[in-house]
Amino acid sequence: RDSQFDYVLRSVEERGVKFIQLWFSDVLGIPKSFQITPAELEDALHDGMTFDGSAIDGFSRVQESDVIARPDPTTFTTIPNEEGVARMLCDISNLDGTAFEGCPRNVLRRSLESAKAVGYSFFAAPELEYFYFSQEDLKDRPTPLDQGSYFELTLSDFPTSIRRDTVLALEEMGIPVEYAQHEDSPSQHEIDLRYTDALTMADNILTARLIIKQIAAQRRVFASFMPKPLEGVQGSGMHTHFSLFKGETNAFFNPEAPEELSDTASKFIAGVLHHACEITAITNQWVNSYKRLVVGYEAPVYVSWARNNRSALVRVPVSKRHNPDSARFEYRSPDPACNPYLAFAVVLGAGLKGIEEGYSLPPETNENLFELTPRELAKLGIRSLPGNLDEAIQEMERSELVAQVLGEHVFEWFIRNKRDEWGRYKTHVSKFELDRYLRAL
Ligand code: GLU
Ligand code: MG
Ligand code: MG
Repeated sequence: RDSQFDYVLRSVEERGVKFIQLWFSDVLGIPKSFQITPAELEDALHDGMTFDGSAIDGFSRVQESDVIARPDPTTFTTIPNEEGVARMLCDISNLDGTAFEGCPRNVLRRSLESAKAVGYSFFAAPELEYFYFSQEDLKDRPTPLDQGSYFELTLSDFPTSIRRDTVLALEEMGIPVEYAQHEDSPSQHEIDLRYTDALTMADNILTARLIIKQIAAQRRVFASFMPKPLEGVQGSGMHTHFSLFKGETNAFFNPEAPEELSDTASKFIAGVLHHACEITAITNQWVNSYKRLVVGYEAPVYVSWARNNRSALVRVPVSKRHNPDSARFEYRSPDPACNPYLAFAVVLGAGLKGIEEGYSLPPETNENLFELTPRELAKLGIRSLPGNLDEAIQEMERSELVAQVLGEHVFEWFIRNKRDEWGRYKTHVSKFELDRYLRAL
């Protein structure tokens, strides 16, 4: 650890860093930060920085409001386009040094520890979808900047150049990008990050969302991770590819098994499917998230898996056969407005449960599920994901697994917060209703 501290202190000097931002996430995945100067840094690295946590949702109550931010030296990097500014992600602890339960990074760490206890490390690679809108007309309705479509090749139009600069900035921060492309909807773009361990990836997603927004804002454009900002076209998902490693070996790979998917992989996927409804409030945490999870827009609605079926919740890609490292599954429900720390923690928890209990994988569903009637679905024994935030909270509330993975503090805070959101939504009289009912009779 001392050598990591030295590296940070040296980098600050060599790169002329004047401010170090200490970043952390609140329970909903909203980034928070405060800034220190290099003079403060050495103390901050050794003892952490005390701050008043009560100002932040999900963090301690007024009576016991002080917590400590401990910067993680492995996350030190300068911020492109911000002269002399660097950032570090923090773990939050209580004054007595114990891990603070309201800190999502701690929640994920704990989940990763329980995987480690049975010999596994957990990797994630997300496909971040989002929209670019013009800043000027945000007050009204978001207006797309382009009319492009899936994988459309545009050489030098405005949104594509913003996306390109974003990819360069991310790479400069040590966040490798595997693909970047135009997505299906007008003004919708996608950036796929190259897989890393789940904790680094959750940090990277927090960072990527900020950098995507920052580079857009510098060009008077607004980047939005809202799951379904435009009616009638696809929303934004954050499909995530997950794999489990035992040492250097991908535990999901078995060259002898059908489709080269190991027994460990089937049990893990079975766990994720078994608990999918319970974890949906975490992977899809907003009222608006559920307007994406509807039939007909390449977003999942039914709890099922398949090798090559984009209407399934879990897809096992078969593209790179015989490559042990790429054995993985794609979980398609999460959206880019989730808290990645909590989302990865609950997916891992569900998968480990599958391994522990030896769940068996239901048969693959190859039909286009969007074309089946409710009756046909019932006959196949296929459940639906929660249809709205209210249903999702109810599923979560009954879940021992989610309570255990999140810990009591986050579990209860989250349910309370989401109940409130649902209550407000439920009583809101929308334009839809006024248009439809005001003069109806
Ligand atoms: N935008 C789609 C979704 O909401 C995903 C499209 C794709 O397959 O990449 O999940
Ligand atoms: Mg996509
Ligand atoms: Mg995908």
